[in-house]
Amino acid sequence: MNPAASTPVKIARRGLMLVLSSPSGAGKSTIARNLMEDDHSLEISVSVTTRSKRPSEIAGKHYHFITVPQFERMRDAGDLLEWAEVHGNFYGTPREPVEQAMAEGRDMLFDIDWQGALQLQEKMKADVVSIFVLPPSMTELQSRLHRRAEDSEEVIRTRLLNSRAEIEHWREYDYVIVNDDLDEAFGHVSCIVKAERIRRDRRHGLFDFVRELLTEEPNL
Ligand code: 5GP
Repeated sequence: MNPAASTPVKIARRGLMLVLSSPSGAGKSTIARNLMEDDHSLEISVSVTTRSKRPSEIAGKHYHFITVPQFERMRDAGDLLEWAEVHGNFYGTPREPVEQAMAEGRDMLFDIDWQGALQLQEKMKADVVSIFVLPPSMTELQSRLHRRAEDSEEVIRTRLLNSRAEIEHWREYDYVIVNDDLDEAFGHVSCIVKAERIRRDRRHGLFDFVRELLTEEPNL
């Protein structure tokens, strides 16, 4: 018997950039949280934002909360991989942690809007896998925003108005999921990640593996 056959085969691959977008309240953040709990090899990109902190949020974990001048300095210095103005606030992805993760073949999750998704798709091409999460209905979206009870009525109204414009971009994503049932939606995302990880074009280590495989003589 070939002794190598009992050793687990680990084939090097490029890191994956998993982008999740949806209108506010469609459940993307819950899906992202479940994904992080389920898969410890996935790292979340912590964005910078000029929006004020919600009561339930932790600085440095959910966002790095910064001022507009701080944001402008980061943006102008090229420290943001992508950035956008969403619902009247600035948001951006710090460049350095992403570049480090990609270089080390680690996977990253991005909870960003369509403008950010587009910028990452343009810059990082095949490393990006994008998923758009749709609500089952606009009525359900509205009641989820109210149930969350973390934003003022005015903020909720702005987010509902903007949600239509966000949904218009659904075609720009690789996958589209309707979040009717959270477990089911999470299951879909989890399957996408598993499948994307074993794509041939992501696994540069396959070349060496197959070359080695073919040097083995069959034991006839
Ligand atoms: P929230 O204020 O509800 O946390 O986020 C509002 C929107 O901004 C969400 O659609 C979220 O995905 C998006 N967002 C959060 N961080 C970033 C970022 O770094 N870049 C971009 N482009 N959008 C972001």
